[in-house]
Amino acid sequence: MTISLHGMGVSRGIAIGKVHILERDQIEILEYALADDSIETETQRLQDAVSQAKQQLRAIRDHIPESTSADIAAFIDTHLLMMDDAALIQEPLRLIREKGCNAEWALKLQRDALVAAFDEMDDPYLRTRKDDVDHVVDRIQRILLKHAPLAHEIPDNKLNGYIVLADDLTPADTVLMQHQGIVAFITEYGGPTSHTAILARSLGIPAVISLHDALQYIEEEDFVVIDGMRGIVLVDPSKPCIEYYREQQQEDISYFSGLSSLKEEPARTIDGVNIQLMANIELPRDFDTVREVGADGVGLYRTEFLYMNRETPPYEEEHYETYLKVLDKLNGLPLTIRTLDLGADKQVDGGRKSGPVQSNPALGLRAVRLCLKEPALFRPQLRAIFRASAKGTIRLMIPMLSNLQEMQQVLAMVNEIKSELNAAKIKYDKKMPIGGMIEVPAAAICADIFAEHLDFLSIGTNDLIQYTIAIDRVNDEVNYLYDPLHPAVLRLINLTLKAGEKAGIPVAMCGEMAGETQYAALLLSLGLRQFSVHPANLLELKKIINDTDIDQLAEFADQALAASSGVEVADLLDKRNLKLH
Ligand code: PEP
Ligand code: MG
Repeated sequence: MTISLHGMGVSRGIAIGKVHILERDQIEILEYALADDSIETETQRLQDAVSQAKQQLRAIRDHIPESTSADIAAFIDTHLLMMDDAALIQEPLRLIREKGCNAEWALKLQRDALVAAFDEMDDPYLRTRKDDVDHVVDRIQRILLKHAPLAHEIPDNKLNGYIVLADDLTPADTVLMQHQGIVAFITEYGGPTSHTAILARSLGIPAVISLHDALQYIEEEDFVVIDGMRGIVLVDPSKPCIEYYREQQQEDISYFSGLSSLKEEPARTIDGVNIQLMANIELPRDFDTVREVGADGVGLYRTEFLYMNRETPPYEEEHYETYLKVLDKLNGLPLTIRTLDLGADKQVDGGRKSGPVQSNPALGLRAVRLCLKEPALFRPQLRAIFRASAKGTIRLMIPMLSNLQEMQQVLAMVNEIKSELNAAKIKYDKKMPIGGMIEVPAAAICADIFAEHLDFLSIGTNDLIQYTIAIDRVNDEVNYLYDPLHPAVLRLINLTLKAGEKAGIPVAMCGEMAGETQYAALLLSLGLRQFSVHPANLLELKKIINDTDIDQLAEFADQALAASSGVEVADLLDKRNLKLH
């Protein structure tokens, strides 16, 4: 009998195959007292286990294929850094030396202390970092206890074509799985912004997560179908059901391979309206993909990575060199550099002076607020952006503006920097456009005021939705309220687009909503003409745009704006999208 299970689809695609259960047998950690003369041997045993764990992770990291998104290496780097972190290793060494604890027990005590400290934190992102502690400690413990490597860590190709089921996955697991030819995965835990979800999307393999109790219903070697878009897992499916999904799988494959032929084509609607399709980029190595998908440029370059894993902020030269490298890769395409947006969901140490703990970080000192308060973080970046503007087409974009004074302060700083550069006879683009992100409801309502002073606007829907509906974007428990079609969100988007139109300046959208193709018709009907999206979504979006006739959508925007709920707008969209396909 077929069992149908429903979780959260976080990475689209269909996979059909047998299940391998990734079981991390619970390791038993025993406490025993050491004889005085074995203390030094024990500290050495712990240090050796840590070195071996590092070697294992480095080997995994070195085998990440070039094509894999930089996210994965970054996650593994985080684990490597943790193994060097005094907080994790020094304390167990002290416990061995001073209390005569065995290495496994000392490590366990420190793990428990760190996890308890993370549990106390208000910030949900930091709370999830305790998973990282667990993953790192688990690897070291297994080495100490001489446990055999897990099946997916042995490169014998036996898991090729399998679907992995686990309670949760580590970043290293996902890389190993990719090497072993695993075609999809299912986990019992995790939310849409969890590491697991991000990694699945980066690897481009279907994934269903948050499928609670999956391990109760699915057994080793069970045959399953997984639909990574709808979050469905079918255990022991019937023959007709398998046939249906095989057809769907083929359709998907030919649909996506057909999209690559659109790379050289312009994005133009049936009625001849040209649309600009730009890419959202984070890490320098992602820049190759901009050209690969034929983007018109970069509409959002997130620069937070420059501030990661370090104790002091980057120097002007470091910014400058990075931007030049990026311009070189873009080969003439425009680059929109978003200035530093640290804080809230983007906690990356970043050389920031530590301030008081913020009980409400999303509403606290983040992005432009932090930059204005700490010019040492901001000024070098601004100067470098101006200097780089002499070498390519750059636009400067300020995140999280909420009132006019902030914008004026930024513009005043910009003027100071221009005077300095003039005095030093350093070249820069005197007409470099300066724009602002509309991510706060106050800014959207007052978009006309911002539009008067800026050269362009870009709607950051990730934050705009968070602030409009009052839902923490990284909190699993309120994710169900996240609704890009909420009438309040649509009205704010509309206000921003109209303000741009009135002031005669371009308005782009660079939040996730822009890349979710089911919203394309709605956004086009509201007047959006510039989309900036994850490169993986760009060609599909282009196809939808090229199949759309904006003329036919005249009443659609009005109907959507008059709707009283997101569900009503979704129904309208579904009907329209069905007509299209
Ligand atoms: C946004 O908020 O929509 C956005 C694009 O910025 P980020 O996701 O980096 O906050
Ligand atoms: Mg944002």
